[in-house]
This record gives sequence, structure tokens and C-alpha cells, in this order.
Amino acid sequence: MNTKTVLEKASVQKRLSFDEAVALFAYADLLELGEVSDAVRRQKHPEEIVTFLIDRNINYTNICRNQCSFCAFYRPKGHPEAYVLSGEEIEKKIEETVQLSGTQVMLQGGINPDLTIEYYTKMFSGIKDKFNIRIHSLSPPEIVYIAESSGITLEETLKALVNAGLDSLPGGGAEVLVDRVRQKISPKKISSSQWLEVMEEAHRLNLRTTATMMFGTVETVGERILHLQKIRDLQDRTGGFMSFIPWTFQPGNTPLGGKPVSSLEYLRTLAISRLFLDNFSNVQGSWVTQGKDIGQLCLSFGANDLGSIMIEENVVRAAGISHRITVEEMVDLMKKAGKIPAQRDTEFNILRVYE
Ligand code: SF4
Repeated sequence: MNTKTVLEKASVQKRLSFDEAVALFAYADLLELGEVSDAVRRQKHPEEIVTFLIDRNINYTNICRNQCSFCAFYRPKGHPEAYVLSGEEIEKKIEETVQLSGTQVMLQGGINPDLTIEYYTKMFSGIKDKFNIRIHSLSPPEIVYIAESSGITLEETLKALVNAGLDSLPGGGAEVLVDRVRQKISPKKISSSQWLEVMEEAHRLNLRTTATMMFGTVETVGERILHLQKIRDLQDRTGGFMSFIPWTFQPGNTPLGGKPVSSLEYLRTLAISRLFLDNFSNVQGSWVTQGKDIGQLCLSFGANDLGSIMIEENVVRAAGISHRITVEEMVDLMKKAGKIPAQRDTEFNILRVYE
């Protein structure tokens, strides 16, 4: 297959097939991929505005029964470092977030068998009573667990959480949506079809979500494309995904171990994602796993967003990677990439443009 022909097709936003995307992975020139993915980003975002948001990731518990081999964050129940945050601790963190102009909290935790739906609804309604902040929280594995442990349907679970204050759902826990991969790295976690089912149900209830891909463990390139194909198909049906966020496995302190994928492979995957996901408006680069320099390069490889200035982040940090960035640094980084920086909210509404 001639990759130049495939890139020409992608450059006018014609839909790529599975085989064409695999060919781009195998043979396309990285700089040409960057050029075409940047051109496609510009077609979707012609004003050259690229975005970030200010939020805090609050991990309300690190107790998890799933014990995924790629995870350095969880602790088994009874472990000296195991914790569940109290309502007061969570509210204190949110208060700090609001003071730092944060617009969103992302509450995510392990699959803790002691927590019931009442814990979550009480937490969310307590937050909404006190703060004007967006709750972009819980991922499909947590939603499935809450539904199962409470003996209610996914629809009932999502409705109860929305009534308590849930605004949107992050796409964590997707890793690679192929069960061969999941059986190897997270056999106790929900299946790929369950992840997609939660997202479809959320979209049906007008709850918008993001989609993610955590790659670089045991998957093949074809399995990465299969993942993209599954979320593209769902987006065709619902239009409920706000953005796509790829990041890489961080092997430090994990049972799975191994080497992280290179930054060049990250950029290649990012660019191909932008081209393949023709029905996604927003693609986010991961400065949190790649660092600020590669984060900046992401803006020339298809990304129009760099996600959050994370006031707190614990999951990647547990794997020994700790990149930090201030609003000033983010703005400077975006300007030096030749773009116009803007702070956004969860749904990509622009709050402030830094000309
Ligand atoms: S990735 Fe999530 S589900 Fe898996 S062990 Fe870590 S906290 Fe638990």
C-alpha cells in the first residue's frame, strides 16, 4: 500500500480503513504524518486556538480488588498505605482547586468493595452544595462495579449519580479495548464490550464522556487500531465523546514492568489517531506522561488540546513519573509552538484566550 496515497486521502478527511491505518504505522514517514495530522487539526480548528483546563485529580481511594499488572497506584485492603478519603478531605482539596481557578474535579479511585452507591451520591451532592465546580468523574469500571454492588442497572446507576451532581464521565479504564490484551494485563477488570456499553448508555442519557487509550503494554499495532475503530464506531452512533486522549503505559513500580514506548512512537500513534478518528473534534496530547517538550510537539502532531494543569495527580506519579506545569508555563509552551493558548472548561467552551 502506498502511504502517500493514504496520507492524501487523510488530508481531505476521507475515512481511513483499518488496513490503511496499520500501513501508516508500519511505513509512513513520521514528519509527513505530523504534517498531515496538523493540517487536519487546522481544518477542524482553523483559528489556531489550542486549549488546556485547570482541574484536580482526586483519587478518593487507592484500595482496589482488580490488581491490574500495569498499575502502580492501587493497594490491597489492609495495606499500610491503603486509604479512603473522608468527605472533609475531599472538600478541602476542592476548596484549594477553586481558589486556583480550577473549573473541574476528576474523582477516580480503585474498585473498593466497601464503597456503595450512597458513598458516591453523598460525595457528589456534598460537593455541589458547597462549590460551583464541574464533576467529571468515575470511569466505566467504577460505574459497572457500583451498579453490580448496588444491584441496580447501569441506567439506574448513571441516573442516580447524575441526580447527585455527576456532570460527565472520563474515559479511563479503556487501556486497549481488545479482550486478548485485557486478559493479559487486567483480567479482573471489565471487558471491552462492558466499557463500550457504559459509554453508550451514558451518551444515551446525554452524559458526555471522553475516550482514552493507554498503550505500550502487550498490544499489537493492529490492536491499537482496533481500539480506535471501536470508539470511532460508537462515536458514529452517539456523538457523545468530547475528546480522545492517548497516553502511554508507565512501567515504573508495576508488576508488568518493561520499557516505556518511545516519544516518537507516542507522536506516531497520536498523529494516526487524529487521522483515523475523523469524527472526533478534539484530540489531547499527554504532557503528563510525555513531559513538557513532547507535550509541545503534540500540538504539531494532531493534538488541539493538552488537557489539564493538574493541581494534583497521583496515578502516573506512582509509576515514578512526575511532570509539573504552571498556567504560565503552559501558555508559554503553546505560544512557542505557534498557537493561541486558551483556557477551556470540560466541554471545550473557551473561558479565556491568551493572545
Ligand atoms: S488500574 Fe484501576 S482497576 Fe486496575 S488496579 Fe489500578 S486502580 Fe485498580
